[in-house]
Amino acid sequence: MIAQVIVDVVHTNVARPFSYLVPDSMSLTVGSRVLVPLGPRRVDGFVVGLSTEEALDFPIEKLKPVVKVLDDYPALLPPLLELAEEMALESHCPLSETLRLMLPAAMRTGRIQQKKALYAQLVSGVDAAAEAEKQRRAPKRATLLRLLADGSAKPVADLSALVNEPRESLKALEKSGLITLVEREVFRSPDGTDAIARTVAPPLTADQQDALGTMLPALAQGKGAFLLHGVTGSGKTEVYLSMVQKTLTMGKGAIILVPEIALTPQMVRWFVSRFGPETAVLHSRLTDGQRYDEWRRIRLGQARVVVGARSAIFAPVEKLGLIVIDEEHEQTYLSDKHPRYDARRIAMSRSKREGATVLLSSATPSILSFAMARRGDYTLVEMPRRVNDRPLPEVTIVDMRRELDSGNRSIFSRLLIQKLHACFQNGQQAMLFLNRRGYNTFVSCRKCGYVVKCPQCDLSMTLHREHGEDGPQQLRCHMCGAVQDPPDVCPECGSKYIRYFGSGTQRVEEEMHKLFPQIQTVRMDIDTTRERDAHAKLLGKFGRGEAQVLIGTQMIAKGLDFPKVTLVGVVAADMTLNLPDYRAPERTFQLITQVAGRAGRAQQPGEVIVQTYKPDNPCIEAAAAQDYRAFFEMEFSRRRAGLYPPFTLLARLLVESEREADAKAMAEQLYNTVQTYLLSHPPQKKRTLMVRADEAPVKRIRGQFRYHVLLKIFDHPDAAPLLALLSELTSLTNENLRIYCEINPATMM
Ligand code: ADP
Ligand code: ZN
Ligand code: ZN
Repeated sequence: MIAQVIVDVVHTNVARPFSYLVPDSMSLTVGSRVLVPLGPRRVDGFVVGLSTEEALDFPIEKLKPVVKVLDDYPALLPPLLELAEEMALESHCPLSETLRLMLPAAMRTGRIQQKKALYAQLVSGVDAAAEAEKQRRAPKRATLLRLLADGSAKPVADLSALVNEPRESLKALEKSGLITLVEREVFRSPDGTDAIARTVAPPLTADQQDALGTMLPALAQGKGAFLLHGVTGSGKTEVYLSMVQKTLTMGKGAIILVPEIALTPQMVRWFVSRFGPETAVLHSRLTDGQRYDEWRRIRLGQARVVVGARSAIFAPVEKLGLIVIDEEHEQTYLSDKHPRYDARRIAMSRSKREGATVLLSSATPSILSFAMARRGDYTLVEMPRRVNDRPLPEVTIVDMRRELDSGNRSIFSRLLIQKLHACFQNGQQAMLFLNRRGYNTFVSCRKCGYVVKCPQCDLSMTLHREHGEDGPQQLRCHMCGAVQDPPDVCPECGSKYIRYFGSGTQRVEEEMHKLFPQIQTVRMDIDTTRERDAHAKLLGKFGRGEAQVLIGTQMIAKGLDFPKVTLVGVVAADMTLNLPDYRAPERTFQLITQVAGRAGRAQQPGEVIVQTYKPDNPCIEAAAAQDYRAFFEMEFSRRRAGLYPPFTLLARLLVESEREADAKAMAEQLYNTVQTYLLSHPPQKKRTLMVRADEAPVKRIRGQFRYHVLLKIFDHPDAAPLLALLSELTSLTNENLRIYCEINPATMM
C-alpha cells in the first residue's frame, strides 16, 4: 500500500501530498495521523489517500516508509477531511492549514498526552463481604474489599483518600485473584461541569411547540436549514434542548455554537443538566489537557452533544444530526485568524455533506440572514412572545443633551440614578452596559449630538495621530480615505463641548461607587476576565446576589438569564451607532435589543433606560420599541440606497508584513494588478464601484504593518471571475509578507 500524506508544515513547497510506503505490519486509514521522514527531518502528517503500487509512476524503491501511526484511531473523520479540502480550495491556502483547524492544537504539537490512572475492580462473582470476613488479620484488605463490593471500577487515587497507602494490599488482593488492577484513560473535564444537577424538560409553550412542529420533520430526515427568530426570553434554549433530545434518540449527535465565552457557562449548565456526561465543551479557555480530552470523548463517541465557541464547528461528531448557532448575528462567528472562515457557512457545508439540520437562532437576526430567509434559503420560524406571556421590558430613551443643558455632567442621567435607587430598594439587581470602545474614537458634540462624518460615505470619521504619538490629530474616513482636521467648536451649534467620545467601564464603576457607596458591583470587561475561569466566577458572584450591579461590555449583552435583574441601563448607545462601519445601525439595534432582553425575565417586569445624544435616531427608536421587522425594512432600504451588502460585496486584500515598505509596495502592486485586469474586462469594471489602496485603519498589529486594497462590487454572478482573481492573488504571499483575501469581513480594521 502507498499512502498519500500531507505533511503538517506550512510552506508552499510542501503543499501537495507526498507518497510513502505503508509497511505490511502497519494498519492505517485515510484520516490517520502519521510520522513520516521529510528530508533529514521527521514530521507529522495526515493520510489523505491510499493507493496500490500500480498507481505509482516511478519505482517503488524510491519511496520511504511511514515511520509510525500517531494515534490509536484515525484523527480525522472523512467528512472533515473533505471539508478541509473544500476550505483550502476556496481560500487558496495549503491543505495543511485547514487541516489544523480540525484538531486541538496541543494534539498536533505533541505537547499533550492521554492521562492514565490505575483502577481497581472486584473480579466478577467474588463475594466481597465473605472474602472481607476471611481477611481478619489484614484489616486494610478487608476495608478495600468492602469499598469495591459494588463491582464498579474505582480509581486507586480515590481509594488512597479512604485507606492509607493501599497499593501493597491491592497488589496482594490482585494476586489472590479477588480483584483486578488496570490502567485506564481518565478524561480531564472542564471545571465546574461535574457538580451540575440533572433537570427534566418543562411543558413547552405554544410558540415552542409550533417551532418544533415545523422543524422536527426535517430533523428526522436529516435536512433543512432554519432561521429561528424569537424575542428575548421566548425560550429558544428549550427549543434547542428538545431538538438535541430528538437528535440523540435518532442515534445522532449535535453541535451547539455560542458566541461568547461568557455565555458558555450558562449554556453548558443547561445542556449538562439535561444530557449529563453526553455533553462536551469546547472553547479557548480550557486547559490543553481538558480540550484534548473533550475532543477525544467526542471522537470516541462518548460525548455526542458539543457546546462550544466558533471552532467547535469542526468537532469530530461522527453521525452529525443537528447544528445550532445561537445568536447567529454575532461577529464572533467570523474568524479573524487565518485561515478565515464563517462558522455559519461551515455549518451549511457540513450539514449538506453529513445530512444534518441547521438551526440559526437570534432575537435580532443579521440583516444578511433575514434577507436570505425571505429569499427562501432558510425557513423562517418565529416565536413572538415571551415565556408565560411575560411582557417585554419597557424601554425609555433619555436625551443626554438635555442632561448637559441642566447642568448634569455625570455619565448617568437623573432618571437612571432614580431608577437605580428604586431597584436597590426593592432588593432587585441591575445591569449597566457600555459598548466596547473599538479601536478608534469618533468626535461628537455633547451639546447637540453632532458627529463628524465623511461627506462621501456617511460613516463616522475617526481620530488618528498621523505622525507618531505626539503628531497632530486628524480625522479619517475608513472607507474612502478622506482626511480633515478635527473641529474646535461644533459646526452645528457652535458649542465647545465637542470632543472624542469614550468612557470606559472602569469609569462607570467609579461613578457607581461614588453615587452608591454601599452597593456591590461586578465589572466584566477584557481587563477583569483574563483569568481562565473569570467569566464563570464573576457571573456566579452576581448570580448568587453577592453584588447588585453587573457592569460590562458586549460580554454581558447576550444570553444571560438572571431572574432578579429588573433594570438595565445602556450608558451610551451612541458608541456603536458611530462606529465607522456600515453595520453600525445593525450593531446598535442588536445590542440595545439584546441588552434590554436581560431585564424582567422572571416574575418582576423589566425596565430599560437607553442614554443617547441622538434620541430620535430611527434605529434607536426601533430598538426601544423592540420592533425587529420595522428595523429590518428600514435598514434593508438604507443598504440598497447606500450600495452596501447584501446588495454589494465589500472585498479586501490585506497585506501584513514586518517591513512597512514591503507591505505598502505589495498593496500598490495588487492595486495595479486589479486595475489592469478591470481595464481589460469591461463587464467586471462596470460592476466594480470602488478600488482603493490604503493603509489599514489599524496600521500595526503585533508588529505587523498592514496595508489593504478595498473593493466594492455589485453582488452579481458576473463578479465571480473578479473574486476568483482576488482570491488567487493571495498566492503572492512570500517569506516577507502574507496576503489575505476577505469578502464582507467582520471588520475592516
Ligand atoms: P431566550 O434564549 O429566547 O432569550 P431562554 O431560552 O433563556 O430565552 O428562556 C427564558 C427563560 O424562560 C429561562 O429562564 C427558561 O428557563 C424559561 N423557560 C423556557 N421555556 C420554558 C417553558 N416551556 N416553561 C417555563 N419556563 C421556560
Ligand atoms: Zn453641537
Ligand atoms: Zn468617506
